[in-house]
This record gives sequence, structure tokens and C-alpha cells, in this order.
Amino acid sequence: MFLENTINSENRKGWIEVICGSMFSGKTEELIRRLKRAKIAQQKVEIFKPAIDIRYDMEAVVSHDSNQIHSTPVPASANIPLLINDEQVIGIDEAQFFDMELVGVCNRLANQGIRVIVAGLDMDYRGKPFGPIPALLATAEYVTKVHAICVKCGNLANHSHRKTINDKLVMLGETESYEPLCRNCFSIEEGYNG
Ligand code: ZN
Repeated sequence: MFLENTINSENRKGWIEVICGSMFSGKTEELIRRLKRAKIAQQKVEIFKPAIDIRYDMEAVVSHDSNQIHSTPVPASANIPLLINDEQVIGIDEAQFFDMELVGVCNRLANQGIRVIVAGLDMDYRGKPFGPIPALLATAEYVTKVHAICVKCGNLANHSHRKTINDKLVMLGETESYEPLCRNCFSIEEGYNG
């Protein structure tokens, strides 16, 4: 489990944390866990997500088990700094759907002394690094990779396998469209071994 550094609030500096992994790996739950603890400590918290992610609720970060906290949907990463006042902690969910400018935005916020916690898919359904996540992983101080359980064999899963035939990169949907698979089962499904 991720444990925050002991922070001397007098000397508080910003940094970036990334929580990545496949679908069904608990990324949003982990983001919510960290943000709720900061809120309990009376820190000013704000959460953003791309306006594209409208699966459940435009105004809430919703994890799959309906453990939710309020968030602000924004059309582009450039909107995020404009909406910040004196927040100490910023959460960004479904970060893979943001534009590449998110990397610069997160780094500027961290440089201003803000704790930035980013959650997102590290790979798309084809197993390719997804949007701004790779560059965020490179520039973050702390990286947590969480795993789902492979539905075929029970090993740790790192792939979000799309069960339906559709080559759109952004296809919003849940259990009916995707399943978590391990490397081996994903490569069999994708025909890499055959
Ligand atoms: Zn497997």
C-alpha cells in the first residue's frame, strides 16, 4: 500500500503521484482513498476528470463500486489551472483521456507546491501506452501500479482486453466490453502466439 512521506507542513513542497493499471485494478478506489484521507486532515482537495468520461455521472468521480466523491469535468487539461484557488491536493481521474498538455500542467502545479495525484490506464485495449500517462510516469515522484485479476487464469492482470470488435480507441463501457487479462492470456487472445 502507498504511504505518504512524513511531511513537515512548514516546508510542504509539491509532487506528482501516479496510480496506473488496467481496468478493474482499483485505480479510482486508490485515488479516492488518498483524497479522502487528505480531506479528513482538512486539506483543500479538488478533483478533475475529462468531460469525455460520462459513463455514470458528470459531477462525481465514481469507481465501479459506487464509492464516489465530487469532481469537476473539464474539456481540456488547460482548464485545470484556471479552476484552482488555494487547493493543496489535486486529483485527476481517467487521465489517459486528457491531451498531452496534462504533463506540463501537472508539473507546473507540483512546482507550485501542490500534491498532484493522477489515476489512469497505462495501456489502451491494444496494449499500447495510453495518452499522457507514460510521460506522467516518467516525471512523477511516486508511481503505483495496481493490478486486476485475470478472468481466464487468475494471475495478476495488466491488460484491458476488449471483448467486442471495434477499433475506436475511446470506447466507454464496463464489464460488457472489457475484461482484465494477464500477459499470457492477452497474447493468446490477440493471436500473438498463433
Ligand atoms: Zn491469464
